[in-house]
Amino acid sequence: ILQLVGVRKTFGDFAAVERIDLDIRDGEFLTIVGPSGSGKTTLLRMLAGMEAPSEGEISLRGQRLNDVPSNRRPTCLVFQSLALFPHKSVGENIEFPLKVKKIAPAARKARALELLRMVRLPESYYGKNVMKCSGGERQRVALARALAYDPEVLFFDEPLSALDYKLRKAMEKELKDLHRESGKTFIYITHSLEEAMVMSDRIGVMQAGRLVQVGTPEEIYTRPSTKFVSEFMGEVN
Ligand code: ATP
Repeated sequence: ILQLVGVRKTFGDFAAVERIDLDIRDGEFLTIVGPSGSGKTTLLRMLAGMEAPSEGEISLRGQRLNDVPSNRRPTCLVFQSLALFPHKSVGENIEFPLKVKKIAPAARKARALELLRMVRLPESYYGKNVMKCSGGERQRVALARALAYDPEVLFFDEPLSALDYKLRKAMEKELKDLHRESGKTFIYITHSLEEAMVMSDRIGVMQAGRLVQVGTPEEIYTRPSTKFVSEFMGEVN
């Protein structure tokens, strides 16, 4: 669905991302892992249209995306910090994208309730102020709002890193279920390899701006392509 050809990003003399070629498949859950500073966020920002590549091409279903601004792309980025409207209700937050699309109030509400079910929040949360929700609940509201945009691809930049261990484990499973139910392409960034192993169809490993291996969790685990990948994988044990 998304194709990267020779995508590179430099800041002055420094290459944060080095010539990446990658075909992202329609409907897959692809996780990018790698140590801090390896270029994961820079890569995601380019995919989401928040940063222009210095070289190379990014296309979506064959259409060149390089010059399409982020708000006109059929993609959506879910942040670590959630950027929900704090003084609005859960329902108003979820319905925001639907309102922008001028969908009638009754249809908006029906869709919002459906999305609440999808992210496993009770319908009674519809009228609740988001500030009265817990961190994990807000995370779900943000997910529901992202899905309300009905994007073809959803990007996640370490969305679970602020949550405690137990909640993170539960959200991992829910994200995986949500991926299956929604049928969307999920591109997920984390430095937690454990998270990547549990959720992904494929994992891409980055090291110093390079994408050193892309494969299923099993392939990466059993056949690491370099010593770096093998050592990085070793951290899961
Ligand atoms: P982390 O896991 O810590 O978020 P990361 O793998 O996402 O790291 P990036 O944030 O993509 O890494 O950063 C890759 C490199 O590019 C880092 O060395 C960073 O300092 C550098 N970098 C990122 N953005 C800029 C910028 N706007 N100007 C200069 N250097 C930058």
